[in-house]
Amino acid sequence: MNTGSKVHFVGAGPGAADLITLRGKALLENADVIIYAGSLVNPELLTLAKQGCEIFNSAHMTLDEVIETIQSAVAAGKAVARLHTGDPSLYGAIREQMDRLLALGIDYEICPGVSSFSAAAAALRAEYTLPEVSQSVIITRAAGRTPVPERETIRALAAHGATMVLFLSAGLLGTVSDDLIAGGYAPDTPAAIVYKASWPEEKIVRCTVAELAKCAADNNITKTALICAGAFLGSDYGLSRLYAPDFSTEYREAKQ
Ligand code: SAH
Repeated sequence: MNTGSKVHFVGAGPGAADLITLRGKALLENADVIIYAGSLVNPELLTLAKQGCEIFNSAHMTLDEVIETIQSAVAAGKAVARLHTGDPSLYGAIREQMDRLLALGIDYEICPGVSSFSAAAAALRAEYTLPEVSQSVIITRAAGRTPVPERETIRALAAHGATMVLFLSAGLLGTVSDDLIAGGYAPDTPAAIVYKASWPEEKIVRCTVAELAKCAADNNITKTALICAGAFLGSDYGLSRLYAPDFSTEYREAKQ
């Protein structure tokens, strides 16, 4: 891994400080400058920074300020870690940073992270992709201040009846329920609200699609939560072929 003076976008993981990758940890330890997304990154990760590392909280910065900070650090030959929550590829707003860096001729690399949707499944002790239930996970969000393309409305996506995981939607659950049901989920489809997965204050609320708004309100959950919906949270599913005794694979002969 070349850590040099290039910029490293680093996935911080979902919350628990030990859910960062080994590579991400090494990049933080090596960084001369860390710019972290302060609204969701666990500040405990900043204790990995070496003495003298300059630390900036991007929650208080504009895109221009972030880019200027990176630019002057790189010009001084410093190693920069840009720390984003979960995995940077999901709702991380990294593309606009990468394009600016590209235009400035600044090299960068991305270190993936454990997304909160993986941490939510772990918290729920669930498998998103159950045979005969759903083999697809739809990751999406309700339209808020950031619009969602018309063809990707929750209502349109709900028509697939697949496993759904909604980011950035905990404050909009009245319409989320209505749209899920209007799109085709039965009102009693199992659902869950996972608040701060992997943080000490993690909370799991299991309910139905129809009850999402009420359950969030009853538990004072308005943000930093994922909404999961689908029959994968129910009790019926098919067994995998991979481990079926009558099924041969490249590694194992079927038992007669
Ligand atoms: N890149 C991040 C998502 C950033 S968008 C990732 O891969 O997880 C921020 C949204 O992610 C929050 O509004 C919330 O919906 C979700 N989120 C982030 N961390 C979370 C956590 N620990 N538990 C539940 N939801 C979380």
